Amino acid sequence: MGGEPPEPGGDPWNGEPVTTIRASCPACGDVQLTAADVTVRLCADDDRGSYCFRCPGCAGRVVKDASRRVVDLLVAGGVRLDVWSLPAELSEPRREGPSFSEADVDEFGALLQSDGWFDHLAAEVGGSEDR
Ligand SMILES: [Zn+2]
Repeated sequence: MGGEPPEPGGDPWNGEPVTTIRASCPACGDVQLTAADVTVRLCADDDRGSYCFRCPGCAGRVVKDASRRVVDLLVAGGVRLDVWSLPAELSEPRREGPSFSEADVDEFGALLQSDGWFDHLAAEVGGSEDR
């Protein structure tokens, strides 16, 4: 007897349950990962899921599509979930007023060509200065 107690349960981690995730790398084929190796990404806008991991075999970064069910399973297994949104500009309604159109440019140009455009402009702005 060497005096060393046998490791309980054959679990290499101290009491922490480790979920083994099987995934496949395009270069290495099937690889085994733990939840810590994987990141799940879920798009908040259209529920598209994917997961990515760094392959333990070739150290390459692998990204795969994941159905909502797979996303749930991975998250239940302790995988970090990263929810992201499409860039706001893509879906957000315009906040500004109408943009400066060509008609506005023409109008301004016509104003500049007319006599007394400065008076006209000053009158528009408030005009109490010319006395
Ligand atoms: Zn690989």
